[in-house]
Amino acid sequence: MSSAASYQMLLSPLRVGTRTLKNRVMMGSMHTRLEHFADGIARQTAFFVERAKGGAALIVTGGYSPNEAGRLEEGVPPFNSRDAAHELRPMVRAVREAGAVFLLQILHAGRYGRQPQAVGASALRAPINTVKPHALTELEVEQTVEDYVRCAELAAEAGFDGVEVMGSEGYLINQFTAPRTNDRNDAWGGDAERRMRLPVEIVRRTRERLGPGFLIMYRISALDLVEGGNTAEEIAAQAKAVERAGADILNTGIGWHEARIPTIAYFVPRAAWRDATARIKRAVGIPVIASNRINRPDVADEILRAGAADMVSMARPFLADAEFVNKTASGRVDEINVCIACNQACLDFIFRDKVASCLVNPRACNEVEFDALRGSGRRKRVAVIGAGAAGLACAITAAERGHEVDLYERAAEIGGQMNYARVVPGKEFDELLRYFNTRLQRSGVRLHLNSRVQSRDLRDRFDELVVATGVAPRRPDIAGIDHPKVLRYPDVFAGRATPGARIAIIGAGGIGFDMAAFLLHAQQGDTPQARQDFMQEWGVDTAARERGGLIPQSAVTPKRQIFLLQRSPRKIGQTLGVTTGWALRAAIMRHGVTALAGCSYREINDAGLLLAVDGEQRQLEVDNIIICAGQESDRSVYDELVAAGVPAHLIGGADVAAELDALRAIDQGTRHALTL
Ligand code: NAP
Ligand code: SF4
Repeated sequence: MSSAASYQMLLSPLRVGTRTLKNRVMMGSMHTRLEHFADGIARQTAFFVERAKGGAALIVTGGYSPNEAGRLEEGVPPFNSRDAAHELRPMVRAVREAGAVFLLQILHAGRYGRQPQAVGASALRAPINTVKPHALTELEVEQTVEDYVRCAELAAEAGFDGVEVMGSEGYLINQFTAPRTNDRNDAWGGDAERRMRLPVEIVRRTRERLGPGFLIMYRISALDLVEGGNTAEEIAAQAKAVERAGADILNTGIGWHEARIPTIAYFVPRAAWRDATARIKRAVGIPVIASNRINRPDVADEILRAGAADMVSMARPFLADAEFVNKTASGRVDEINVCIACNQACLDFIFRDKVASCLVNPRACNEVEFDALRGSGRRKRVAVIGAGAAGLACAITAAERGHEVDLYERAAEIGGQMNYARVVPGKEFDELLRYFNTRLQRSGVRLHLNSRVQSRDLRDRFDELVVATGVAPRRPDIAGIDHPKVLRYPDVFAGRATPGARIAIIGAGGIGFDMAAFLLHAQQGDTPQARQDFMQEWGVDTAARERGGLIPQSAVTPKRQIFLLQRSPRKIGQTLGVTTGWALRAAIMRHGVTALAGCSYREINDAGLLLAVDGEQRQLEVDNIIICAGQESDRSVYDELVAAGVPAHLIGGADVAAELDALRAIDQGTRHALTL
């Protein structure tokens, strides 16, 4: 990343309505689930204030429903009372005082509501919901418009600078605008003009009632990515109509939640959707915001310089680093903790009904809790053994807290398992390693590479010993496991072994899938070619000449023949992340991978792998068998310390190997350091 001078456009002011924003970075709306807690407002205040202080010009809250029917789920009340508005006043004041323009997002879930009162333009159930919605009557639509306007009035009463009207991602407004979900034939459906009447009326009446100083942002669906979605022509007409109705600025959304095309996961190239935003920008005179897979200042600035948008929205990058903008402005881009688009602690947590956080920044949404964690209050001499994710997070955090830290690593480089993840197509672990390296250098940690420590080196020299020696790949007990055809996943990822054209992968967990992707796909960048390849592979036309922007997927010529194997009978890929697993599975399967569950491995032999699938014997004629069968804790150092009577603390994979990933490692390492 280059110096601050390169980001002039990103850091320049932008006139929006009657306001001037201090830069062109918006922290987009995110669902955090903090609202489910008794202390939710205090936690949200800490979360937003930290990001406002970090330099975001504009911040949008998570979605607030304008009425009971629009709620996403039960348990969270709608934003439709003066009490609710007054409750938010201190938070709004604090965020504005911290320097951001603050908008409340009005989100009516429509048929995505997972509650019995869900409604829709028509009584058509969403494929991702079990609830069949009630089709709104004309009178109810009128009342819904009124509820939006009332919600905006209450936002003004709470002190917000304005609202974002959520018109994308397949929620209620989008359900009205698209023929897929609107089969009405009345004032609110029947042709394109009437389908878009709902957002136009909401914006028009909100402007009428709230006057010119109140910011109205409309989030338009730039690409629906579903059959029966809108065409480019219809989307442009909607953008113009909403502009005429009084919107100050358009934000863009990509893809409905029920779309079968990934839009923000790591295997989507950066800035993938800029052409769709540019299309809308050409249609209107008000500023337009680009969103989705924008995670670094250079990516953001380039979109603006190319004229594809006037501002960028980043949501997850503000979970990863509250200070994204300040670091950009002060020439410290190498210190930015970049969102790696893994979805593991943000969206995947939300889908599991947990509070969102961030794999690379466990403090996100836990600000109040982390600030309450207290150590001994004295400067300690700390040794951390192992410079993988857990050890790095622990050592750096401890040093930043004022401790004197020595970090020992037996390899010639830091990173541990992250050095394997970084070569998987799309995985941005290089960014995380760069971030750790920068922090390491500035933190004052003394790093000892190629260092195999023993208890006698450590005894009496330190107040605290933390063992983060990680994991060793499991070596399953299969006849012929020493056969030359057998390869270990670390050797393949590290380029020490070159697999042939026909491969059996033993183990279909996260690493088995990563291995298949590594063997099949080319490493992608954020080039126009990478974006074009992605669109062709997934069947997307960003020009949206056809409904929804869908076109036939291009045929794939697989680079290898792969068998992906698992012992348990469960569906292959079930243990992958909720929001990324389905797409990863689809991408791999398009390359003709044969996935076999219910395997029992009999023997590795000169022909390949002999196994039984559901009791039936099969010989897989393959060149190599790659073992991706999980890991076991490496506790050799810890065991030696215990035997020598030296007390030590275990973290990361050395503590628990099962389902170890960078998420748990970084979280545990950071928390431990905060309590030293
Ligand atoms: P894993 O997810 O636990 O998968 C290990 C696989 O090996 C399973 O398919 C397991 O299922 C099989 N296995 C276990 N013991 C075996 C044995 N003795 N013989 C043969 N097969 C055996 O482990 P991983 O793939 O190494 O991943 C480690 C961690 O990193 C996991 O938490 C994973 O979720 C995480 N990770 C996540 C991602 C991501 O994208 N989110 C990517 C990579 C890794 P069967 O026993 O049924 O065959
Ligand atoms: Fe980004 Fe992953 Fe953090 Fe989510 S968990 S904000 S995707 S780095």
